[in-house]
Amino acid sequence: MAVVHVIGGGLAGCEAAHYIANQGIEVILWEMRPDQTTPVHRTPYLAELVCSNSLKSEQEHTAQGLLKTEMRILGSLLLQCAEQTRVPAGSALAVDRDLFAEKVTRLLEDHANIEIIRQEVVDIPKDQHVIIATGPLTSPRLWQNLQELTGTDNLFFYDAVAPSVTTASLDMSTIYRASRYGKGTDDYLNCPLTKEEYESFHQAMVEADIAEGHSVDQGLFFNACMPVEVLARQGIDTLRYGPMRPVGLNNPRDNSRPYAVVQLRQEDKDGRIFGLVGFQTRLKWGEQDRIFRMIPGLAKAEFVRYGVMHRNSYINSPQLLQPTLQLKNNPQLFFAGQITGVEGYMESAATGIIAGINVARTCKGQQPLIPGENTMIGALLRFISTASSVNFQPINASFGLLPELVPAVKNRQKRYQGYVERAILQTKEYSELLRL
Ligand SMILES: Cc1cc2nc3c(=O)[nH]c(=O)nc-3n(C[C@H](O)[C@H](O)[C@H](O)COP(=O)(O)OP(=O)(O)OC[C@H]3O[C@@H](n4cnc5c(N)ncnc54)[C@H](O)[C@@H]3O)c2cc1C
Repeated sequence: MAVVHVIGGGLAGCEAAHYIANQGIEVILWEMRPDQTTPVHRTPYLAELVCSNSLKSEQEHTAQGLLKTEMRILGSLLLQCAEQTRVPAGSALAVDRDLFAEKVTRLLEDHANIEIIRQEVVDIPKDQHVIIATGPLTSPRLWQNLQELTGTDNLFFYDAVAPSVTTASLDMSTIYRASRYGKGTDDYLNCPLTKEEYESFHQAMVEADIAEGHSVDQGLFFNACMPVEVLARQGIDTLRYGPMRPVGLNNPRDNSRPYAVVQLRQEDKDGRIFGLVGFQTRLKWGEQDRIFRMIPGLAKAEFVRYGVMHRNSYINSPQLLQPTLQLKNNPQLFFAGQITGVEGYMESAATGIIAGINVARTCKGQQPLIPGENTMIGALLRFISTASSVNFQPINASFGLLPELVPAVKNRQKRYQGYVERAILQTKEYSELLRL
């Protein structure tokens, strides 16, 4: 019988190992801690939560709530352990982080089909079933080898993520399509600002609250790209000569040149999501909500993700991975967790379950299977494997990733309810298929 190597005992690796072992397949789970650690992990436990102790909302009609419901249907180990170690946190699911990680560790240590080896993996085992789930702080030596395996252009070292919004939430009576100097096709959405609008926006940026970074992130980003609020603080015109440059972007409605422009670029295959070009930021999320909605056309923007800047090692999944999480040119090699370009504890864990399902199926000679695209997990897999590989940026669970309801529902609450019902149905169908 096959043995599966799961590299990395974090959130994704633990979910994967647990699923595979429960299928009666032997797992070797490799975890480099405690002998070698990352700049953010502090304990020897598996599934350590490195920052917040919150696994985010449990409310039924939120994207995070839906993700959890789907994971529960698929038998998530982490959510079972979270339930047993939860602490009061309103509508969020928060845990006592040490009790949580200790519980996951003990369950996996006690599992008859799992052997845990506390050692850094540097060379990826050849001709074997392997899941790489080494997370955003993958050890440098393994990273080096991944570079050789995938090519340097296919690895990213940190997130400099600009906020993204749903296309449906944009006011297209203000926004216009154009590319600079009319070069190529009119792929960009442009939000024009008058002098007064620009000055108010600039003022808000200068006064905005910035999120404090983790110490691992200090001094990380300035080499490659500046946070937009830092540019704003350099002077009143810096943004207007930088990411908000209006030249070559005349408004086709009256052929006038705006005082400044915010450009939005398509991020997904279907054009449901657009990102603010050059707006990587460390502003607090509430501040992003408030200030970016001052941009003409964005007053009612629904944010699919907020801008962040932090250290994050991830691969160019659209280039490298199938939606089943298999490497395109080596189907025995799977990736799971934050390294695939999903972002967040639960998103990472969810991809761990899927990698576990598919490696187990492959070992049994079955075809890999993924949940339908109406599910939150299916939508995440679809995004990471089909997004533009040029500017590929990590993604959180969000309703903006899901296909529209047919017929479309205008009322937001009812729309979300529709998404949730449809997704749960499809996850149950998927779960049934796995049993066949
Ligand atoms: C500083 C920071 C703060 C974050 N805060 C949050 C937050 O508050 N909320 C949130 O939702 N998300 C947060 N994230 C994002 C993400 O959700 C977490 O990083 C999450 O732990 C990712 O899960 P994972 O399983 O992919 O990786 P991890 O949980 O990091 O697991 C990877 C494991 O692989 C091990 N490993 C690495 N290299 C090797 C090797 N060569 N051999 C063997 N083992 C190896 C590591 O020791 C680690 O245990 C944060 C990320 C960072 C970097």
